[in-house]
Amino acid sequence: MDQRTSTSTVSARPRHDIDGAIRHDWTHDEVRALFALPFPELIFRAQSVHRMHFDPAAVQISTLLSIKTGGCPEDCAYCPQSVKYETGVKAEKLMSLDAVLAEAAAAKRAGASRFCMGAAWREPKDRDLDRVCEMVEGVRALGLETCATLGMLTAPQAQRLKAAGLDYYNHNLDTSPDYYGSIITTRSYQDRLDTLGRVRDAGIHVCCGGIVGMGEGPEDRVGMIATLANLPAHPESVPINMLVQVEGTPLAGGGALDPIDFVRTIAVARITMPKSVVRLSAGREDMSDETQALCFLAGANSIFYGPKLLTTPNPGRDRDLRLMDRLGLVPME
Ligand code: SF4
Repeated sequence: MDQRTSTSTVSARPRHDIDGAIRHDWTHDEVRALFALPFPELIFRAQSVHRMHFDPAAVQISTLLSIKTGGCPEDCAYCPQSVKYETGVKAEKLMSLDAVLAEAAAAKRAGASRFCMGAAWREPKDRDLDRVCEMVEGVRALGLETCATLGMLTAPQAQRLKAAGLDYYNHNLDTSPDYYGSIITTRSYQDRLDTLGRVRDAGIHVCCGGIVGMGEGPEDRVGMIATLANLPAHPESVPINMLVQVEGTPLAGGGALDPIDFVRTIAVARITMPKSVVRLSAGREDMSDETQALCFLAGANSIFYGPKLLTTPNPGRDRDLRLMDRLGLVPME
C-alpha cells in the first residue's frame, strides 16, 4: 500500500471535513490527508459536502470569449497567447462592442447563463477598460451574468468594473506558491493575491482556481488548494483546469497527468470550499466522458460550454448535450 490511508484508518478519523462548514484554516496536513484518502472515501465525502449546498444534478453553464487575443507580454509557460512563444496565435485588437454582444446573444440562445470575456493583457489600460465596461453593460442588458478576465487590476479599475455591473472577475492563482516561479516570472504570486483582494473589496464575486498537469508534484496540488481554501473568502467560482499542451509553449511535450489525480483535485476543492461552484474547466476536449462523469461525482458543478476556450479547443455543444443527457444533468437556474 502506498501513502494512501486504509479504510479502517479512515473510518476512525474525525469527520469534521464533511460537515460542510466554511473554514479558512486548512493545514497542509489536512489537505494532504484528503488527497491520500482511498478514492471511494474521497468521492463519498466530496459528494456528501456537495449535496449540503447544491442540487447534485445542476450544472452552471458559462461561455468564454476571447475579446482580445494574443500579444500578451507575460510569460505564463502554459499560454499560447504570450508573445514569448511561437505558437501561431496572432495578436488581434480588442473586439468591437457589436461583435461581442452578438457572441453573447448566441451564447444565451445556446443555454449559457454567464458570459465570460477574456483579454490577453498584463493589465488593462484605462481607455481599454472604458470599452470593456460598455461590453459588461451590454451583456448584462441581455440578461446574462457577466465575468471578465483582464489581468491585474488597480483598485479604481475594479471599482469601475463593479459600477458597470460586472458580476465576476477571474484571476487564477494557477499553482502553489512554491511551484509558481517555474511557471511565471513576469508577475509574482503576491501580485495575484493583491488583484484578488481589490476585486473582493470592490464587491465583485471572485473566480479563482488553477491548472494541474503542469509538471507540478502532489505537494503543489496540496499547496494550491490550501491557498485557495484559506483566502479571506472562498472564491465564489473555482475553475480547476487540466493543462492543454500547446505546441510552442514551454510546457508542450510534458507527461500527462493521471486523470484520477485530476478527479482527486476536484474532490478536495469541493470538500475544502463547500459553497463554491467548482468548474471543470480547460482540458475537457481530451477527457473521456467517463472522467468527466467522475469529476461531476467529485463535486464539479460548472463547465464552459462552446467549441473554443479562448484559443484552445473545447467539446462541441452536441457532445456536451449528449453527456449531460446521459448523466441526467440539467443547467443550473
Ligand atoms: S495566461 Fe493571461 S497573462 Fe498569462 S500569458 Fe496568457 S494571456 Fe497573458
